[in-house]
Amino acid sequence: MENRTEIIEDRKDFVCYNSKNKKSKLRCEENSVSGAVSQRACVYCGARVVLNPITDAFHLIHGPIGCAAYTWDLRGSLTSGSELFRNSFSTDLSETDVIFGGEKKLRAAVDEIVEKYHPKVIFIYATCIVGVIGDDIDSVCKMAEEKYHIRVISVKSPGFSGSKAMGYRAACDAIIKLIGENKSTKKVNGINYLGDFNLAGEVWVVENYLKRIGIDIVSKLTGDGKYDEIIKAPEAKLNIVQCAGSMGYLANRMEETYDIPFIKTSFVGIEDSINSLIQVASLLGDGETVKRAEELIESEQERIKPEMDYYRSRLEGKKAAIYVGGGYKAISLIKQFKDLGIETVMVGTQTGKPEDYEIIRQITNEGTVILDDANPYELEKFMLEKGADILVGGVKERPLAYKLGVAFCDHNHERKHILAGFGGAVNFAKEIDLTVNSPVWSYV
Ligand code: SF4
Repeated sequence: MENRTEIIEDRKDFVCYNSKNKKSKLRCEENSVSGAVSQRACVYCGARVVLNPITDAFHLIHGPIGCAAYTWDLRGSLTSGSELFRNSFSTDLSETDVIFGGEKKLRAAVDEIVEKYHPKVIFIYATCIVGVIGDDIDSVCKMAEEKYHIRVISVKSPGFSGSKAMGYRAACDAIIKLIGENKSTKKVNGINYLGDFNLAGEVWVVENYLKRIGIDIVSKLTGDGKYDEIIKAPEAKLNIVQCAGSMGYLANRMEETYDIPFIKTSFVGIEDSINSLIQVASLLGDGETVKRAEELIESEQERIKPEMDYYRSRLEGKKAAIYVGGGYKAISLIKQFKDLGIETVMVGTQTGKPEDYEIIRQITNEGTVILDDANPYELEKFMLEKGADILVGGVKERPLAYKLGVAFCDHNHERKHILAGFGGAVNFAKEIDLTVNSPVWSYV
């Protein structure tokens, strides 16, 4: 007990040591503790994460130029068509606009965009300063829609107005607005694929699996998403949700609005990929579809077995720390590490839900540190306390690991390599091996 990391009083309920006997209730889904220097991203960032991969939409950031820095080139979402989303557009608000209002500038930006690019849809993101000065973005959107007969949709995302999860909701509301609230009379035997942002082309990996077992994707939300496909989403029979943290809310709203049921899936890791394929095949197909899914799983497992065995032999006994955005990814990663003989000793998320933390509690060992909305101090201290050999996280966690001489694996939106599906499991094992067993650590 005496060697345990001290944390500030207000954060104590957000952190626990897993105990199989005593069910500790972890606080989550709350605003960050003031002054605790949370690793969480802002509301605007949450909205941008979800909407930005829509490839042919125009993403206009109403705010100072700094907010617009969070754009395509920091992220790995790929496109099979339009490249419009790779640009970043900002109204670049300055002191004068803060005093006199930025609506005029916003209207001029929309006029310029329509004239030069003729987009079918423009998303306008409200950032912190717009929340302060109170520009009426909705009226600008309404006027632009009437003037140009295209969709111009506001995304209410001032950074200070809540947590990153609020940004997810704002983005999901914007998607419902884009699709419209009408149910479809036409139904096709296909799915909508929600919550995959096509990092390094992962949507295409899943699309290919589904194609091989005979299941069509009606619409992808939002990785490699296209306006013309997205508005057909109400025709699908089923929604499958990869990242429920960001798009579980959309799945619920689509069930209420269009009568489309949904299931949570995960194509991160072998075990979850197998379960997801069988689940989708059983729900949407017939006996033949399930048989095709089983054949696919068998051949993929056989294909990757020698490599997985090799990496397991090099990684067995290592310890991992995980800090990622949502619960589904943390859960899949714990299972992936288990497959490689690695114990997860610390695990946390930015936006995990109580049900995610309960699963995490069940699948991790006694004494594993579980934490919600962590800060750099906690991550560093717990990594040291638990003797982690590797940290899995995103761009903000990378320097924390390297500073401590701990290996790091990027599992966030900035990465450029596939970590989904069976091939992704091999890529993951390879990357963990390369970094954990790198000779560089012997010089630190
Ligand atoms: S916190 Fe505010 S100023 Fe900073 S990126 Fe988010 S919206 Fe922009």
